[in-house]
Amino acid sequence: MKRALFPGSFDPLTLGHVDIITRAATLFDEIIVAIGVNADKKYMFSLEQRKQFIEDTFKNEPKVKVVTYEGLTVDYCKAIDVPFILRGLRNPADFEFEKAIAHTNRDLAPIETVFLLTSAQTSYIASNIVRDVIRNNGDYTKLVPDAVRLNN
Ligand code: ADP
Repeated sequence: MKRALFPGSFDPLTLGHVDIITRAATLFDEIIVAIGVNADKKYMFSLEQRKQFIEDTFKNEPKVKVVTYEGLTVDYCKAIDVPFILRGLRNPADFEFEKAIAHTNRDLAPIETVFLLTSAQTSYIASNIVRDVIRNNGDYTKLVPDAVRLNN
């Protein structure tokens, strides 16, 4: 069974994440969406809310599981025996950032990072922009799935 871990903050889940997860579900048997817990980071949505958004969005997709984890992503992959990390690429900045992380991860463990290129329709969507729109009472509904819209 081919399993991939999709790590991130998901603060909140956006249509960009949904696109990557949905397309990865055609390539892997299981996608483990892993919410990284970083005690030093301030989040807009609580861990429970972020988890709920993902679970609600993929309630009819048995291939998608949601977990939370602390520490290094590769250590978590080793602990649950997952050989692939999934990441999305939007632009050259993502590429440079992801390249450094993927090379470092490969130094740390024999885990392969698989990249999916963003879809044209969602390439501009980022959680930090969604948070900004929410904070300033803008219409963020076109950027997120129903579960985030309805529970916020
Ligand atoms: P981080 O907190 O590490 O930035 P995010 O939770 O924002 O993580 O994103 C997790 C993953 O989703 C990353 O690989 C990121 O590149 C990807 N991603 C986010 N938005 C999009 C998008 N619009 N299209 C494709 N990939 C995306």
